Formats: sequence, C-alpha cells, structure tokens
Amino acid sequence: MFDHPYVWVGFALLALAALISLFLVRKRGEKIEVDSAVDHDHHAGHNHQAPPADQVLLTPQEGDFSSVHAGKKWTGGCKFDPAEVRRSRFMAGPKIDTTNLPAPNPVVVAAINQVSIDNLKDTMLKLSGEIPMMVGGKSVQIATRNTYHPELGIAMSYMEEAYKALGISVSRSPYKVRGKTFENLVAVIPGSVDPKKVLILGSHLDSTAGRPWGIENKAPGADDDGSGSAAVLEMARIIKGLKLPYTVQFLHFTGEEQGLWGSYAYSDIVAAAKTDVIAMLQIDMIAYCNKPGNRLDIHDGVNKNGSHEIVVKFFRAIKRYGININPVDTHNNAVTDRSDQAGFLDHGYKAVLISEEFSDDGFNPNYHSLNDRVVNCNMPYMTEVVKAVLVVAAEYGGLN
Ligand SMILES: [Zn+2]
Ligand SMILES: [Zn+2]
Repeated sequence: MFDHPYVWVGFALLALAALISLFLVRKRGEKIEVDSAVDHDHHAGHNHQAPPADQVLLTPQEGDFSSVHAGKKWTGGCKFDPAEVRRSRFMAGPKIDTTNLPAPNPVVVAAINQVSIDNLKDTMLKLSGEIPMMVGGKSVQIATRNTYHPELGIAMSYMEEAYKALGISVSRSPYKVRGKTFENLVAVIPGSVDPKKVLILGSHLDSTAGRPWGIENKAPGADDDGSGSAAVLEMARIIKGLKLPYTVQFLHFTGEEQGLWGSYAYSDIVAAAKTDVIAMLQIDMIAYCNKPGNRLDIHDGVNKNGSHEIVVKFFRAIKRYGININPVDTHNNAVTDRSDQAGFLDHGYKAVLISEEFSDDGFNPNYHSLNDRVVNCNMPYMTEVVKAVLVVAAEYGGLN
C-alpha cells in the first residue's frame, strides 16, 4: 500500500499544508517576533542569550515613528559597539582650542557648587530599588524600571512629584507602539527672554538587566540610566534658580532599552512643532569610573549636524571652571544610534551623548546586569560630570 504513488502524493500534499499553516502562524505572530540577530550584546561577558519565543516583544510598525528614523533597528537600544570603538578610537578629531578662556562667571560657579552628591545618590538609590520612595503619600520600593513593567509607572510618578515639589511644570507625553500606549516624562522651565529657543536635557528612565524583550521583575539600572535620570532632575532643581533666557526641557524617556522608542516619538513631536532646539544633550551612564583620570566621553556622531560645537563647549567649560573631568571627543559613530540623541540627530538637530568611558578597559562590567547598583557607582566622579553638563546647559540656556 505504501508503494502506491497516490499515497506519496497524499503525503506530499499533507506536508505542504503543514508548511503553509506554519507560515501563517508565523505571520500572525509577527508582533511577538523575536529578532535574536540584533539583540545580542557585543561585549564579552554580557548576557546575550536570545529571548525565549514566548516573551513579549513589541516591534514598532510603519507609522509609529517618523520616516526620518527609517532603517534603524527598532529593537535593542542602548547597545554600544566596542568593536566600532576599537576600530575608531584613535581617529583624530579636530583640535579643540581651550585657550583664551573668559574668567568664570560667578553665577555659574554658584550653580555648580549647588550640585549635591547626596541628592544624586538618593534619587539613584530609590530608582534602583535599594530604598523606598514616597509616591502619592505612600512608601513604595520598586525593583525594576523595565518598560513593560508597571513599576516603571511608579518611578515616573516619583519623578513627576519631585518636579512638582520643585515648582517645575511637568507632564506626560504619550506615544504608541503597535497601538499600545507608553509615556515619556517632560518637565519644562520656560525661558525668561526668548522661550522659543529650547535646550533639551535627556535621559532614559527605563532599565534592563539584559532581557528587555519581556517583563523583567528585577532591573536596578543604577548607572544605566538611573545616573542620567538623577542628573537631569538635579540640574532642573538648580536651573530653576538661574532664570535662564532660553527654555530648558528635562526629558525622561522610556522604551530606550527596547529600541529608543520614547525618544524617537518625542523627537517627532518636537520636529513636527518646528521647535527651535538649540541643542540636545543625552546623559546616559555617567556614574561608572574605576580608574584614575575621570574620563568622560562626548559623542557627536563625527560632527553630525554640526554637533561638534557641543563638544567644544564641554572642553572649554571643563577647563574654564576647573572641573575634575577629562573630556574625550570620541569622534566616531560607535554610539550614534545607541541612545536617545539619535532621534534628534535624525531630525537635523545638534545632539551629543555624554557617557562614561566606553572602551575595553574602562567599560562598566555591570552593564545590563543585576549588579548595576549604586554600590558599584563612583559618585564623586558622577558629581563632576553633572557639574560639566550644568555649565554647558547654562551656556546653551543663554548664560555665558
Ligand atoms: Zn542600557
Ligand atoms: Zn542607557
């Protein structure tokens, strides 16, 4: 009976039907597809297993973000590429002149003296789940800021209440990925002279412990990017007292670890409103430094949109105010699309990423792991970084 040719034709048809239905199931399951090819880490020693197929992974669809970001990988933000850093780390950038500096502005000196290591540490301890925080009059202790986890909402409420307590106007800016709504947090201090000119200070509130494809119940993210989040809030507190001529927006993006969602969406809003963004400074991972020298990397995407101007401001500000930081103009594209400055660069704005050293010997070994805790951060180093960013922010805000 098995010899009969019709039996084999029958088997072939059955096999074909099975293949077709498999294909249809895959198509239907597209929104939970798993792109393991792009979600691996490039750095030795990191968690780089592919996510299990049943994990939630929303992949943005056509129309979620402006077409200026087309072609970008929408999975796995905040992924640096040390191979690219190694290839390009000795590329010489243009020489930066740090001579002929004006005397320090006493108003700016007073401002940087207000940067509080205790404030920075307190916010980071709360965001990374080491100590409880007060939210809505209740004491809550979170363990994660994963974008899919409700505890990110608690962290956002905490930050929102912190801005309100400082008398700074704050709101949530929603965006959609595949029809699901997420939010960024936006605080604004309007300019006193020309509020239409806007400086954006960015950070990402979400965190990961290496598996951002699904709900992570524990993801401390003290350095990444609890440090940037705390820095932005602390700078807002000080900038409030400066009454700067231009407007400053303080951004806490979400969905960064999933693929820069929040910042793509927010850069689209800003660009659609034809906002005059004078500069965007993204602060992502500024609290790790385990060797002498206090190196700080400033990434301008090889002068993309003229962003090298921001690097020059950093070099000159650090020297002028005697801040204990050694700035490095990385002059490569290793991280151009790896943090929230990317969307703003796509829209033609000047933007940089400010980050601790990113190369073989200076890289944070706790990156995207359960060890990304405050105890492993260098708070005095971070405090110097915040001072440097504050000076440049004050300058872009119209105070020279
Ligand atoms: Zn990250
Ligand atoms: Zn990050």
